[in-house]
Amino acid sequence: MAKPKASKKEKLVKSTYVPDKICYIQSGKYAGKSIPELMFADYRFLQNEFKLIINRLFNLSPNEQKKMRLDHYLKISKSYTGNKSELHKNLEFYIGRGENNTPDKPGRIICPYCHKRPVHCFAFINHRSYGIYINPDYIVCEDKACKDRFKIDVFRYSQKCLDDRMFKFSMFAPSSIYLDDKNYFRDYVPKMTKLFAKVYNLPEQITPQIAYNFFTSS
Ligand SMILES: [Zn+2]
Repeated sequence: MAKPKASKKEKLVKSTYVPDKICYIQSGKYAGKSIPELMFADYRFLQNEFKLIINRLFNLSPNEQKKMRLDHYLKISKSYTGNKSELHKNLEFYIGRGENNTPDKPGRIICPYCHKRPVHCFAFINHRSYGIYINPDYIVCEDKACKDRFKIDVFRYSQKCLDDRMFKFSMFAPSSIYLDDKNYFRDYVPKMTKLFAKVYNLPEQITPQIAYNFFTSS
């Protein structure tokens, strides 16, 4: 049985693959949907498809699968020198780009507090009684002073009693839509997509072509 460790022996090849056309899902509930648009609409689905391919390829036991984080999956996928299916190549590419796509490119929106640095993360409030609250305006750069000013701002305008521990800051990566594995905030996906569209200067209606251009240009 091949374990993920075995992949270390293989030559690590730097992936230079960039899809030259939009790849569509062939079957199942998303048949006919494109992979780039699903990066925004259902990233969890793409992650699971990707993990499934790697689990089969490396014969990973359920126990081994449990220990593997998404970055481990990406690492062993990139190290695999055998033949990869179109679906495998596309998933590896988009998930890899998605996880490393911080909004620091020129043209991305600037922090509303310092007016200098690009927006780096978004905030959400995890309130014991009111639950999760996400607002597309809750965006800020990585500077601590800006994050503090943001909190003061929200405290000032909020009617709810908030305290510091309820604020969470998260980086811009598609996986942030799900915040963590235990809390899958499916209800928040449309709001999060709006948030991502705003910070990356994308239209709210993300077509396959717009999503493809977004992930392949960099
Ligand atoms: Zn700032």
